[in-house]
Amino acid sequence: MGSFLFFTAAYGQKANTVDTIQLNPVQVAPHTYFVQGLPEMGSSANQNFISNAGFVVTPSGVVVVDALGSPILAKKLIAEIKKVSNQKVVALIVSHYHADHVYGLQEFKKIGAKIYAQGEGRNYLSSETAKQRLIASRIDFAPWVSADTKLISADVWIDQKLKLSIGGVDFFISRVGPAHAPEDLMVYVPSEKVLFAGDLVFRGRIPFVGNADSKGWLIALDAIEKLNPKIVIPGHGNYSLQPITDIAFTRNYLNYLRQSMSAAAINMDPFEEAYKQADWSEYEGMPLFGAANRMNAYNVYLSIQSE
Ligand SMILES: [Zn+2]
Repeated sequence: MGSFLFFTAAYGQKANTVDTIQLNPVQVAPHTYFVQGLPEMGSSANQNFISNAGFVVTPSGVVVVDALGSPILAKKLIAEIKKVSNQKVVALIVSHYHADHVYGLQEFKKIGAKIYAQGEGRNYLSSETAKQRLIASRIDFAPWVSADTKLISADVWIDQKLKLSIGGVDFFISRVGPAHAPEDLMVYVPSEKVLFAGDLVFRGRIPFVGNADSKGWLIALDAIEKLNPKIVIPGHGNYSLQPITDIAFTRNYLNYLRQSMSAAAINMDPFEEAYKQADWSEYEGMPLFGAANRMNAYNVYLSIQSE
């Protein structure tokens, strides 16, 4: 019995170390590329490749947005960038401090990139949540996230706005929210007509609401719409040439969560009843409905009570 258990554990470990994840950068504008994470929950098998990262090549260096969900993915992204440009990666902008966007940071730090993030990220880094999440991730995403995986602080903390000019290309970095996370940033590159929207815009999957501020998120979506970007690279899902439609998807989903939960939340009726009564048919068929929808609804139910 004992040896049987040992065998399965060893076998499981071995299966997880098989590296099947390949990053394929897609060019979305003259100097802008992105890699698209899988519409799945993070796992050892997918190396936590569940979110996107993008990069812009300038004449004096490459600027990357988000570091992906494990150091191995970051290494792969750096290798892909090298195939596109011989410029150094000079800056890495963190859209927000969620695990799937930041566990690769240490690899960018190693190659000398300057890391930019919104100031509220400091609270996350010193939180018990961040610590526990990393401990859990070292097990859930082993061996790709391990004892060698560290949380990395930004070199530059941004309060509200920062205009970064590298190689003549302007990057307008601005705080939005609190919306999806307390430390959301978006990055607009006018010369490429590209907006890196982080997790403010979701495509092709049920958004991850987590402990989001859904009210603030809806306001942020209006701000994004006003920017009128031609191309949006979201934190998850494919890039968009029709931002208005995709902004509307995220907005409608958040509005529907709020609508379907608000009466019960305000009247202190049980969550279970409200969840059962809501009509989820529009969202049921989408990736991650099973993994995320109930939790999203519950978080919105709780947050409406505290508004
Ligand atoms: Zn994310």
